Amino acid sequence: MDFSIFFAGTAGSIPTPRRGLPALLLRRGGDRILFDCGEGTQRQLVSSVGLSDLSEVFLTHFHADHWLGLPGLLKTFDLRGRERPLAIHGPAGLRELLALSLRAAGRVRFELELVELAPGDVLVRAGYRIAAVGVAHRIAALGYVVFEDQRPGVFDPAAAARLGLTPGPEFGRVQHGETVRGIRPDQVMGPSRPGRKLAISGDTLPSEALRLAAHQADVLIHEATFAEEERERAGQTGHSTAAQAAEVARAAEVRMLALTHFSTRYPVGLLRGEAQAVFPQTVTPRDFDTIEIPFPERGDPSLLRWDGEAGRRQAPANGLAESSSARDVSPTSQPAMPPAS
Ligand SMILES: [Zn+2]
Repeated sequence: MDFSIFFAGTAGSIPTPRRGLPALLLRRGGDRILFDCGEGTQRQLVSSVGLSDLSEVFLTHFHADHWLGLPGLLKTFDLRGRERPLAIHGPAGLRELLALSLRAAGRVRFELELVELAPGDVLVRAGYRIAAVGVAHRIAALGYVVFEDQRPGVFDPAAAARLGLTPGPEFGRVQHGETVRGIRPDQVMGPSRPGRKLAISGDTLPSEALRLAAHQADVLIHEATFAEEERERAGQTGHSTAAQAAEVARAAEVRMLALTHFSTRYPVGLLRGEAQAVFPQTVTPRDFDTIEIPFPERGDPSLLRWDGEAGRRQAPANGLAESSSARDVSPTSQPAMPPAS
């Protein structure tokens, strides 16, 4: 089953011509889950992968750059005649925020299920879970970890035949957990295998809770609002530097770090360099890029660059090669940043 994350907006606080405000779209099978919904998110989606009917929405916190796009998005769903209920999750205060913003934007006719989450809450979905992690920002803020259920181990047909089972339906039944003619599944199946895991920081200082929750995740998406020269300011404003994000990634032993929430202050190449010095498997997605997360035995997570009308093409599977390979992914071709504001 596919498991990928689409970067609908990678700027922090202020959009640029090339980067929209925070929004991430998780795609797994038929599920479409939006994490944060900065102003302009629906336009970003319409301009890229299309505005699909979302399964649910998670907000990390209520600073305006992370949710202001939501009322407009809900109104569009209403105009399109959405009937399916939509669940929106976020920290405490979600109900009040949505009541206020819908009073201004106008009601929607489909059912909104507003779910206020506390750190440690875990939501069970078909085949995976979503956990809320208490991170450290200036206001109540959550990170999220999405992790799939364990998968059955690898079936050993030779062992099954040796024990007397016949290829065909008997093999199928024992693989699906049934004891067949006295042969138990654990006699012919390897140990269970972990599912895939994705961690999303939201806006936060380097967070011990997030480090623990992201342990051995396939991908950690972490904010990198500041460069090292402003580490102190990052601390004062409840944000992280790129290198601090990389320290979290290294300590959590993740497979890939994707930085986001970029400030207009720095060229993204500078942040990438500072992070890669600490954690080489760091990538810096642009808007509309996707990270695909295969099962570990099928390869590493890979950053797929958005290629406009032609759709996506695959960047080197190893995120490390990002800055040394293709023409359009070199640090010098990062979008020009407007002057600091
Ligand atoms: Zn923010």
